[in-house]
Order: sequence, then structure tokens, then C-alpha cells
Amino acid sequence: RACSRAVNNQYSYEMHRSDASATQYEHERLVQAIRQNELQLYLQPIHSARSPEKIVAFESLARWPCEGGFVPPNVFIPMAERGGLIQDLTMWSLHSSLRLLSQWLEFAPDISVSVNISPLFAADPVFPDLVQRAMGIWNVPPERLILEITETAFAENADAVIDGMMALKRSGVSIAIDDFGTGYASFAYLKDFPVSELKIDQVFIRTLLHRQRLQHLVASMIDMSHRLGITAVAEGVEDQKTLEVLASLGCDFVQGYHLGRPMLGETAVAELQAQFID
Ligand code: C2E
Ligand code: CA
Ligand code: CA
Ligand code: CA
Repeated sequence: RACSRAVNNQYSYEMHRSDASATQYEHERLVQAIRQNELQLYLQPIHSARSPEKIVAFESLARWPCEGGFVPPNVFIPMAERGGLIQDLTMWSLHSSLRLLSQWLEFAPDISVSVNISPLFAADPVFPDLVQRAMGIWNVPPERLILEITETAFAENADAVIDGMMALKRSGVSIAIDDFGTGYASFAYLKDFPVSELKIDQVFIRTLLHRQRLQHLVASMIDMSHRLGITAVAEGVEDQKTLEVLASLGCDFVQGYHLGRPMLGETAVAELQAQFID
């Protein structure tokens, strides 16, 4: 079954020719999952590095539950990109995120939501309008929305992506560069593009404690961010010692299992509300 294959992560990016009908079946399952609201939105907290008890934002992460497990996003996001479904999926993510945001703004007006945007969709000329309309529907301030985009986006349709992001930036939305340091784009986009946040990829953070080399790299990325007036966020923080090193290097925000795992959006909002009440 397609679903259990996906859950067991037996996919390869390039499907074999003989798998054409399986691919078609999976495509239809994903269409159905998006249309019939089978996807779930999870939220992972992002904390202040210097005051780790403080949540500053949530990153929204899509989940596709099936047959007692989940199809990993690393499988179904590329599937959506290949199958022409990425616009639908991203709009589902965006609307679900803004709906949750509108709920917690009532008691936590300073906490933002960070939404992953596929580079393919970011290059679509309708993209800025769709984002603005979605913000209008949920009646949320643009200052509370962060759009995460990978460096790869700037390597491919650079001009289209920059135009769209500039338009959104002017309306008050923040732009974060996701997986910073792993893309094959150069620093060129940082020259002109007003990025708000750099998210330093987990590969630099996970073994930080044991490798001086990584500490120098991360220190440089944080320093560069600050010189450009950009907020530095470290991803994949799995222990207290790493958190402390990052705080001592001046990193602004941190995200990772040590601080909080992704959880069902509704659960995250309920926990946050309970925190604000007592
Ligand atoms: P990402 O944007 O880099 O998201 C962070 C990933 O790291 C998430 O994986 C998260 O669960 C995981 N993570 C967080 N903290 C830790 C940690 O301390 N240790 C480890 N080992 N991992 C940690 P997830 O949810 O499996 O998502 C994978 C990727 O799929 C995301 O990477 C993102 O690129 C993509 N993705 C997820 N949801 C969406 C979505 O709604 N739209 C788009 N376009 N992409 C999405
Ligand atoms: Ca991300
Ligand atoms: Ca990332
Ligand atoms: Ca990633």
C-alpha cells in the first residue's frame, strides 16, 4: 500500500518507471488529503536564547497521518511539488497557521507564526496577493507573520522570488532564510534583499559542542546576521549545553527538541493559554 510504503519511508526521490501507477495513486491520495482536510498542522515553539522560558514564535509543520503513522514531510512536500499541488498545500498551511495565530493573539499578542514556503510557490506571481488576502481573512497583523524560504529559492527563480518577497516585506511581513548555510546560493541575495531572520541549519548545531570548527562557523553566522540587522535563529537544539553555548555566542532565538517538540496546533494553543492564565 502506498501509505505504508510512505510511513516506512521506502520512497526514493526518483520513482522507477514501473511505479507510475503507484505514483498516480499516491498523487490522488495527496489531492484527497489536502481537499478533505486530512493534513494536520503541528507547531514547534521558538524560544529566546537568553530567556529560554520565553516563547517568541511557533513554526508550523505539516503532518500527513495515515495507517497509524505519518508520511514524512520530506516525502509528501516533494510529491506535492512534482504533482502541481504545492500551491494548494501551502495555502492550506498558511490558512491553518493564521487561524491558530488569530486564536493566540487574544492572549499572547507578541508571539509570531513562521510558515514554510516552497521555493516553487514563492516564485509564482500570484503568491503575494494570496498571502495578503489570507491575512485579511483571518484579520491578523502582518507583523506577526514570518515566511520561511530556503536559499535554493534565490538560486533558481531569483528575480521572481525577490519581487514577490519585496512586495510582502513592504506590507509588513517578515522573511526568514531557512536552512541557512546548506543551500547552493551565494551570499549575493543578502546584498540587496531585506531578510529579517537567518535560521542556521541543524547540521551546524547538532555536534556544535564537540567541534570547535562549527562553533567558529556559527559565531560568524551570528555576527554577520547582527551586522546586517538580522535576527539569528539556531535550529536542532537538543540539549542544555548547546543552548548555553548558543546564548554565549549571542544567538537570538533557538528551536529544537530540548525546548519543545512539534505538537498538534490546537494542543500548543491550549498549553500556551494555560500558561498565560496562571
Ligand atoms: P524545516 O523547515 O527545516 O523544519 C525543521 C525540521 O526539523 C522539522 O522536521 C522538525 O520537526 C525538525 N526538528 C525540530 N527540532 C529538532 C531537533 O531538535 N532535532 C531534530 N533532529 N530535528 C528537529 P519535519 O517536521 O519532519 O519537516 C521536515 C521539512 O519538511 C521541514 O524542514 C520543511 O522543509 C518541510 N515542511 C514541513 N512542513 C511544511 C509545510 O507546511 N510546507 C512546506 N513547504 N514545507 C514543509
Ligand atoms: Ca522551516
Ligand atoms: Ca530549517
Ligand atoms: Ca530542512
